[in-house]
Amino acid sequence: MTDPISLMHAVKDSQPEEIYNLAAQSYVGASWRQPHLTTAVTGVGALNMIEATREYANKAKFYQASTSELFGNSNTNGTQNENTPFEPRSPYGFAKLYAFHAIKNYRESYNMFACNGILFNHESERRGMEFVTRKVTNGVAMIKHGLAKEIKLGNLDSKRDWGFAGDYVEAMWLMLQQQKPEDFVIATGQTHSVRELVEKSFNCAGIKDWEQYVIVDPNLVRPAEVFTLKGDASKANNILGWKPKMTFDQLVESMVKSDIDRLGKA
Ligand code: GDP
Repeated sequence: MTDPISLMHAVKDSQPEEIYNLAAQSYVGASWRQPHLTTAVTGVGALNMIEATREYANKAKFYQASTSELFGNSNTNGTQNENTPFEPRSPYGFAKLYAFHAIKNYRESYNMFACNGILFNHESERRGMEFVTRKVTNGVAMIKHGLAKEIKLGNLDSKRDWGFAGDYVEAMWLMLQQQKPEDFVIATGQTHSVRELVEKSFNCAGIKDWEQYVIVDPNLVRPAEVFTLKGDASKANNILGWKPKMTFDQLVESMVKSDIDRLGKA
């Protein structure tokens, strides 16, 4: 993503009809330790990709993975939609804000079919272990199998609007099948705290008294936090006909089960 010439060759050689730019340093926690790298890959990388597209495949439809981290703590008492002001709270957030505006400007300046999907957190059993959902479901599975005694976590009070990645990928595809390129919020409209996630995960594994297994480690608390995210995806519902199929409970259950089964086989 930091090498524009490679991206230009890739686009020129493959002549794609659709491009989904999901490439990023996507872990918020790491972005404070690597702010420059995050800006180069996540921010300027998106510019490199859309510029390669403009140069060598300007009829290709372009999807940019934007994020609810753009909102930061904007309107945390209500819901966030396409009109909510952006106030990012991390190097990851401000790199993604740069990318958001790059894509919007290319759409408006060069008449390209380029969309930002402002996706709230989306999870599955394939989620990286550095993210809280998978860290918890894998940690619970380790405890269940007697392979660990505890899980160390940071802020248990922050709340997220967690959906199922499979549902969200369908929304990405739908955005590129429309007549007109637009930006869309994709979310479930439900919010849950990290504490609820932990409690539910232990429950799914049939482990009681979860508090004895969880340690709050101040080193895992971030320099700045996005406290509450809750998205309003009514625009996507109206225009794309999209709505999430999997609930939070089903998502947590499937992730816990998958980690317990995987470690059981191993
Ligand atoms: P994010 O919303 O993209 O930052 O997704 P994460 O899954 O990394 O974090 C979601 C929330 O969980 C944030 O508010 C974190 O501060 C909180 N959290 C609490 N403990 C942890 C932890 O040990 N790891 C991570 N990744 N997040 C944690």
